Amino acid sequence: MEKIKRKSLLYRSEVEYGDFCINHVEGCAHGCRFPCYAMIMKKRCGIIKDYNDWLKPKLVSNALELLNKEIPKYKNKIKFVHLCFSTDPFMYRYPEVRSLTLKIIKRLNKDNIRCVILTKGAYPKNLIETEKYGKNNGYGITIVSLDERFKKQFEPYSSSYKNRIKSLKYLHEKGLKTWISMEPYPTPNLIKQNLLKILKEISFVDKIIFGKLNYNVKSTQFIGSKNFYQECANIISDFCISRGIEYHIKYGTSKRDNRKTEKIFRKEKVIDNKSFKFLPLPSYI
Ligand code: SF4
Repeated sequence: MEKIKRKSLLYRSEVEYGDFCINHVEGCAHGCRFPCYAMIMKKRCGIIKDYNDWLKPKLVSNALELLNKEIPKYKNKIKFVHLCFSTDPFMYRYPEVRSLTLKIIKRLNKDNIRCVILTKGAYPKNLIETEKYGKNNGYGITIVSLDERFKKQFEPYSSSYKNRIKSLKYLHEKGLKTWISMEPYPTPNLIKQNLLKILKEISFVDKIIFGKLNYNVKSTQFIGSKNFYQECANIISDFCISRGIEYHIKYGTSKRDNRKTEKIFRKEKVIDNKSFKFLPLPSYI
């Protein structure tokens, strides 16, 4: 795997539910065809040439050195660190990416910095070693369908939905916090599916973020997308409220934005990693 060096790593993200963020890989072998917003931006900035270039991820070899320098600088400002918004931290079939991600989580957790992780890969089981990786991280997967044919078409090189859910459920069953990014959710002219059926499959999670599909030509041609996404938002909120799941509908998805839920990852009850064994189990277990 090719390696690159960066000058800095930690940065404040502009994603509405984000805080600080790390992208320790350039590019992403999952090659999503929604399309991938990160790829569009990197192309626009001249960092990559084309889709094939994006598919060849490059590891930031000095990521841990940069973290050691940057953590003392930002520590008091950080609420949590998101991995990642413009690559995938558990890239499918990329053990080098997985290994560096685990080291980064461990390093951040050592300073009691919480990580909020999102992947279209599968989680390794050793994340349950909470003395190494902490107990306060939020582990998320993207799920916008259960149809593996749709996945093949739109997320061609990522892990199967089935594997993703299985690995997330394992972490949940071991007492870790889990979440779902249901974004970008496709319009019915791309796939006809039952949202409630998907929700039932992932109903064990603590949080759900739902967002519409942008930048897709076919999806923008769907007449009635405003009503469609409003109906989806209603289904999500009813489902989450009835099950005690926290949720956030991304801005521009429903007809009226709810600004109160954007802090979904901020008000987290933090468990003392050193003494968690002596604390009562959290209520979501
Ligand atoms: S997993 Fe994320 S970063 Fe990777 S190609 Fe898909 S959308 Fe882009």
